[in-house]
Amino acid sequence: MSGILTYVLHYEGEFNKNSLGAVSEAAKLAGQIGAEAHAVVVGENVSDDLAKSLGKYGASKVWVAKAPEGLAQPVVDVMAKLVQDNGYDYLLFGGGLLGFEIGAGLAARLNAGVTMEVTAVRVEDGELVAERPILGDSSISVSRYRERGIIIGRLNAFEAPASADGASAPVEDVQVELSPWSTRARMVTRGEQRGADVNIEDADILIAGGRGLGNAEGFQALEQLAGALGGAVAATRAVVDAGWYPYAAQIGQTGKTVAPKLYLAAGISGAIQHKVGMQSSEHIVAINKDSNAPIFEFSDLGIVGDLNKIVPKLTEAVKARKGG
Ligand SMILES: Cc1cc2nc3c(=O)[nH]c(=O)nc-3n(C[C@H](O)[C@H](O)[C@H](O)COP(=O)(O)OP(=O)(O)OC[C@H]3O[C@@H](n4cnc5c(N)ncnc54)[C@H](O)[C@@H]3O)c2cc1C
Repeated sequence: MSGILTYVLHYEGEFNKNSLGAVSEAAKLAGQIGAEAHAVVVGENVSDDLAKSLGKYGASKVWVAKAPEGLAQPVVDVMAKLVQDNGYDYLLFGGGLLGFEIGAGLAARLNAGVTMEVTAVRVEDGELVAERPILGDSSISVSRYRERGIIIGRLNAFEAPASADGASAPVEDVQVELSPWSTRARMVTRGEQRGADVNIEDADILIAGGRGLGNAEGFQALEQLAGALGGAVAATRAVVDAGWYPYAAQIGQTGKTVAPKLYLAAGISGAIQHKVGMQSSEHIVAINKDSNAPIFEFSDLGIVGDLNKIVPKLTEAVKARKGG
């Protein structure tokens, strides 16, 4: 059977909105290539009514697998089995880190092509073609698939319809024996990321914080300065790894590449892996207490001093200037 299978993430009885967008995108595309659009939900307590409701977004069948939710490996096992048993041609994900991890696992398991950060999918000669912005979004790369394609959207690339009024979908349980390594990790806690909805790649002004902030609370002063300037907050990998700020805000080699009009780096040393993500900024201003910090080598303006004293004063000055 030719078809598209979409993974739908859920949490506390609600579906993730990016996943719902992917379900309706799959339904639209399936209509154009004469295929079926099915969805799969993985979890220990997925209610039948919740699963059925995916029909409203265009799924013509919903698989439910009883397995740990929110972890990548169990989902890889479930989706790989569904592909082996039903021969889906395309696997679609709404976006986000979990989708990247599942998609990478499936690509290896199924020997399929995978494209991440996809912003549009279209049909050409009866096949799906994925578009992905590259080189700081200045060009679009186009992916076609030899046999099977795994397509993972950029966050919010696929929009769920405002009113979903399709029929409810038939639900079928799928029994999957999980691989021994798939049950090794377990979910300890889950929470919402602060700032994950801010698109820092579009911001004209970025106030970035590093380990020099001292702790997670240090970011409050940066948020106030960003608020006063009408900008957004970014971070180094060191602070993201420490859990002080969300991964979505990380700039650098393993984070995002940005080129705002103003990049203000507070308490950031200027490691090469950070530099590559922000060196194209129009104006770089750095605050660092160490006059030998590498960041001063590529800053337009360097302020040597304690950020705890400078940042609040700067915020007050901006507010006063704006008020006046
Ligand atoms: C493969 C690989 C990939 C990586 N990818 C990334 C990436 O994508 N992005 C990234 O950022 N890093 C990345 N890194 C990590 C990178 O090498 C650095 O470790 C990291 O950028 C350092 O973060 P930082 O500047 O916040 O911390 P630090 O290097 O510890 O710098 C803190 C700075 O704060 C200053 N400071 C301290 N207190 C104050 C104060 N009160 N007032 C003013 N200044 C103060 C210090 O003088 C110091 O310069 C990667 C590393 C590897 C190996």
